[in-house]
Amino acid sequence: MRILITNDDGIRAEGLRVLARVAKQFGEVKIAAPDRERSACSHAMTLRDPIRAVETAVEGCQAWEVDGFPVDCVNVGLELGWPEGCDLVLSGVNYGPNLGFDTTYSGTVAGAMEGAINGIFSIAVSMAIFVSGAPPHFATGEQWLCENMERLLRLPRKRLTFLNVNIPAIAFDGIAGAKMVGMGERVYEERLVQREDPWGRPYYWQGGVVVMNEEQAEKDVAAINDGYVTVTPVTLDWTDHAYLEEAQREFEEQ
Ligand code: MN
Repeated sequence: MRILITNDDGIRAEGLRVLARVAKQFGEVKIAAPDRERSACSHAMTLRDPIRAVETAVEGCQAWEVDGFPVDCVNVGLELGWPEGCDLVLSGVNYGPNLGFDTTYSGTVAGAMEGAINGIFSIAVSMAIFVSGAPPHFATGEQWLCENMERLLRLPRKRLTFLNVNIPAIAFDGIAGAKMVGMGERVYEERLVQREDPWGRPYYWQGGVVVMNEEQAEKDVAAINDGYVTVTPVTLDWTDHAYLEEAQREFEEQ
């Protein structure tokens, strides 16, 4: 199996090495990852600037350090590493969760999204580290992926659909199991913090505190709190089909 790996935490991130070690057991791995952290860049792509790619190696795999976004990395990686195409795109393992609405900000998820746009089965993987500075438990992620990658690869494939996997950042023994669940709602409060620079000018930090909506059983945001690995199928068809059905006739007959 021909595998391309990317991430948004940068080519030196521990999670990238974890994913490379896992993927090597399932096929030939090539890596294209950003030269620096690009978290929360979503599906950005470089359009007006050249993209540089420096060849290197990660966990013994041919790799390119790319001065671009995860989307750029997937396209550079496919062109340089797998010009005939590949069978699987993996993105991660991200330092931090990509649950609920995080999915829309995530560069990690965008890497898998770009794989899906290229017609390749793609999986984004994240460690759900909720507290800054808490142990990331990448070993849990590595073990879970080693034991469950085949299970993910056996799942039915659907054009334009990719998988978003979140793994609780706890000891492996604490993992309750794995659930396939829908994308929940993850809302942040106190999103913007105002501070002052040494010259008295205001500046702003974005971050915020997550507010849990308790009524989200069978959604990723709830299952991860119960200790489950969550697998959420995400489609690139952003059309709200239920709404379309409900509102189309009404709108067009006005
Ligand atoms: Mn990240």
